[in-house]
Amino acid sequence: MKDDKLIFIICGKLYNGIDAEFKENHKILVKNDKIEAIGADIVQPESAEVIDLSDATVTPGMIDAHMHMDYYDWRHIREEVYSTSEEAKTIAVIRTAKKSLSRGFTTVRHTGGINSNGFGVLDVKRAIEKGYLTGSRIVAAPRFLCAAGSHGDLSQGFSRNPELSQITQNMRLTLGSGKDFFVNAVREEIKYGADFIKIMATGGFFTPNDNPAQQQLNDEEMEAIMMTAHEWGKTVTAHVYSPNHMQKLVKYGIDGMEHCSLMDEETAQMIADHNVYVVPTFCPYEEAVHYDPVGIQDKQPEFRAKLEYYKDALQAGREVIKNCKCKLGYGTDFVANHQNYESGYEFKAWMESDMGTFRTLQAATKTNSEILQLDDKIGTLEVGKLADISAWKRDLMTDPYALLDCAFVMKEGVVYPTEKCEDLPEGV
Ligand SMILES: [Zn+2]
Repeated sequence: MKDDKLIFIICGKLYNGIDAEFKENHKILVKNDKIEAIGADIVQPESAEVIDLSDATVTPGMIDAHMHMDYYDWRHIREEVYSTSEEAKTIAVIRTAKKSLSRGFTTVRHTGGINSNGFGVLDVKRAIEKGYLTGSRIVAAPRFLCAAGSHGDLSQGFSRNPELSQITQNMRLTLGSGKDFFVNAVREEIKYGADFIKIMATGGFFTPNDNPAQQQLNDEEMEAIMMTAHEWGKTVTAHVYSPNHMQKLVKYGIDGMEHCSLMDEETAQMIADHNVYVVPTFCPYEEAVHYDPVGIQDKQPEFRAKLEYYKDALQAGREVIKNCKCKLGYGTDFVANHQNYESGYEFKAWMESDMGTFRTLQAATKTNSEILQLDDKIGTLEVGKLADISAWKRDLMTDPYALLDCAFVMKEGVVYPTEKCEDLPEGV
């Protein structure tokens, strides 16, 4: 029988995912892939390898709950949609998973392929689980469900050439209309291995011809999706912005919602009362919320116009989210301002909205593990949990770039190399 592998980690400070504090002088004993002991007075076994992180803050492996893994570079994401093969998109997923892990994000949730129409993300997920590839653990909805002309219909970019637009629209197999179409689409996603279902309930900011106030699946379609997914034991999350649509989704039994950027108080209360989670994805709207007329110029023209138009509502929505009692997850949704694997930028956004270090860290660890339905395995540093552990040398209380500068990462008891964010300013 193979000997147990023991690793003894000495922590400078420790955030365990549960208590809103940094504990001093703690140690963690890892046995094979799990946490065997944790505390100030645990004994160091003679045979254990020692990892000294006494100059760093140790946390659970971080989790990004809203990622699109299937592209290489946000600056030409629209070209990537139609100009590369499904195979190339799968390679992009492999690269994203590897880079996310090296940045201390040991688990990521893929909320539908922006570019891809296939299931490469599930193949990558399985290959990582089997140890054939190195990367973050993946929880995935491979293809989002959406309607023609909607936020999920990327062929709207060709709308002035209807023939071409129709051809590319038809390439997206989870795009359709009517209750029966979507009932079947849910069943197919589950058959092929989706962990959850993602729907585009309303319009969006990034797409050229629609807007966040539009309901883009009708009531019957939304209700049928929810009912089918739940009958088959899967959760549903929705891309949504406006309060009236959020309320409707809650009424139909939605499990979670993404963005919710135009939140009002009544809706926040309703969401909290129904225990529906929200992944508010602050990053894409930063230039509107903390109004930055220069920074906003870098955006795609249609995205920029909508940020300008909704600026006041986005600012008000942010305040409501800040003060709400909803269960908040941490997700980036990078398609328009950072590379998808630079998940630490969301920490900066939360800091700059005064969300507080511990509320932010809890969102990215414990709460996200609940959203991903993996809270029995990851999300906190406790005896019996998988040894997914990250460490950071910058000050998490004061430095907004702290989560972009990973000093150490371990997943299931194995240490991996780290990589810094590509455009990282000096520490403060
Ligand atoms: Zn998204």
